[in-house]
Amino acid sequence: MQGITFPGDRRAVLKDFPDPEPGPGEVVVRVRASGMCGSDLHFYRGTASFGGGADTIQGHEPCGDVHAVGPGVTADLASVGDRVMIHHYWGCDSCEQCRSGWPQMCARGSGKTLCLTAHGGHAPYLLVPARTLLPLPDSLSYKAGAAIGCGTGTAWGGIKRLGDVGGSTLVVFGQGPVGLSGTMFGAALGARVIAVDVEDSRLDRAREFGASEVINSASADLAEAMADLTGGRGAELVLETSGVAADDALSVLGKWGRACFIGLPGDVRIKTEEVYKKQWTLMTSWTMSSIEQKRCADFVVSRRLPVDELFSHSWSLDRAEEAYQWFDKQSDGKGVFEF
Ligand SMILES: [Zn+2]
Ligand SMILES: [Zn+2]
Repeated sequence: MQGITFPGDRRAVLKDFPDPEPGPGEVVVRVRASGMCGSDLHFYRGTASFGGGADTIQGHEPCGDVHAVGPGVTADLASVGDRVMIHHYWGCDSCEQCRSGWPQMCARGSGKTLCLTAHGGHAPYLLVPARTLLPLPDSLSYKAGAAIGCGTGTAWGGIKRLGDVGGSTLVVFGQGPVGLSGTMFGAALGARVIAVDVEDSRLDRAREFGASEVINSASADLAEAMADLTGGRGAELVLETSGVAADDALSVLGKWGRACFIGLPGDVRIKTEEVYKKQWTLMTSWTMSSIEQKRCADFVVSRRLPVDELFSHSWSLDRAEEAYQWFDKQSDGKGVFEF
């Protein structure tokens, strides 16, 4: 089979790999959709020191059907033909982080991450331990399951981390696929969502996903607009998804505000005195636990949320180069490879 690799310097190259065979406890998933995530761009551009390198298949938002199961995989874990999402990390499976659904934080440091330390989903077949699988609800498409596996799930994780969203004023910075998901979840949970971006087209999409108000921070004065919208009190909650607006995010946070930063690298300077006087709670959130990935999917189903509509482009594997050149511009929606 062929899979997409990133040798660096903004190149996406198809390489030949052997078809995977499942060992004990493992499954091979027939990938049906593999999402393009903003964090791919760190590796594609060659700017991240922790990229998977030229010999690792990229993609960490896969979704598909179980194709083959290895020895010891019981039917309650996986059967051929099951529609599955994948929690894209695995660890020792016995430390308290792994047991609580956070293998990306494995205390033994023995974990693996798709596209970094294990082959990812930008290929027709994917080898993973059976314990990484989560059921894909019947009413969700494969591409929705892919998005929930990282981008949309990351927004869910951030929103859950903020807590008590309903009835609050929530400002979501960045209206790319993660921010748009945050807007969608915030609105569905009963927040008044104010969406901020620098592109009017993205702000139009934010309204469609439930934003009550929008601010174009490139053409409007953010402080003035926020003062108008909140009677000078500022936001109760902020979700920063862009990775470049952390200072702006803090500038609109009101007294007793809570802010969650999920955009990387997100350089920010804080004065503890200011945090102290405003009694802020500042936090980050790292994708989501396996348990929350399942809850996210269930929430999307129960509220009939339009996750499919996050996707603006669908690609075949042989158009990888073109797909990533498009995605690198970061001015449009979300892309997915479909098989
Ligand atoms: Zn562990
Ligand atoms: Zn991701």
